[in-house]
Amino acid sequence: MYLFKKSADLQAFLADYRSRNRQIGFVPTMGALHKGHLSLLHASQDTAHVTVCSIFVNPTQFNESADLQHYPRTPGRDIDLLHNAGCDILFMPEVEEVYPAEYEVPVPDVALGHLAEVMEGEHRPGHFEGVMQVVLRLLSLVQPDFLFMGQKDYQQLTIIREMIRQLSLEVELVGCPTLREPDGLAMSSRNVRLSPEDRSRALAISQTLAEAGSWAAALSPGEIQEKALNALREAGLVPEYFKLADAENLQLVDTFEAGREVIACVAARAGEVRLIDNRVIYPG
Ligand code: AMP
Repeated sequence: MYLFKKSADLQAFLADYRSRNRQIGFVPTMGALHKGHLSLLHASQDTAHVTVCSIFVNPTQFNESADLQHYPRTPGRDIDLLHNAGCDILFMPEVEEVYPAEYEVPVPDVALGHLAEVMEGEHRPGHFEGVMQVVLRLLSLVQPDFLFMGQKDYQQLTIIREMIRQLSLEVELVGCPTLREPDGLAMSSRNVRLSPEDRSRALAISQTLAEAGSWAAALSPGEIQEKALNALREAGLVPEYFKLADAENLQLVDTFEAGREVIACVAARAGEVRLIDNRVIYPG
């Protein structure tokens, strides 16, 4: 595995692949890697000739400085994991490399409308501007043919799809399924920060999402939201939202309709740690 810290070195190296018509797959991450991240790497290895992973904790997408400060960082372990998983190229830039002092990296001019106003957009002001800013910057450095991102961050995936569409970027976005622990908890870098008690409380998130699917036969979306929020509170979590949305465009729904897939998205705090998860609860 080649490890690059400077974008100029990475670009020079990739130019050679590109000139030989090798297709490049790209997996951007913030490190503290787990099997969910590796599943994106494997999806890229199955699709492209060469895979670039990046590890960069992007400061501009954190709306709480404590969250940025406490974000887990395990670079040595991450390098070993990627090397052992057969990753071709790892890009690990410093902040100055992604956001050079010489010029301002723009926040992409993309009209997101309600996509950025609901759920994570409402609860994490500025978050998606930071996500779009870093993803567009990394895409311009790597210029991949394929971009692999997880459905775990469903709203992020939807927004990046919209950014690619509006800016007519020549990259194919591949959404990959959420990997879970054997008990159902969605894998997340933040899970390592959970105390044993909060780790067992956090299970209520995936359990409630699974139950919400069975409630859809008898209850309305509003009733499901209410019941789910109560279940999360009873489990000792502090939910921020539990919303039901059209899986295509993230419009919030108040009825179930044939032909419209509905996804439930949740954010809840287990102690200090904020977790998100989602699940399709009405297949349409
Ligand atoms: P992060 O390092 O948290 O920014 O995540 C990097 C990429 O990994 C994003 O595209 C995430 O959606 C994806 N990802 C995070 N957790 C999982 C998971 N449990 N299963 C699959 N993909 C994931």
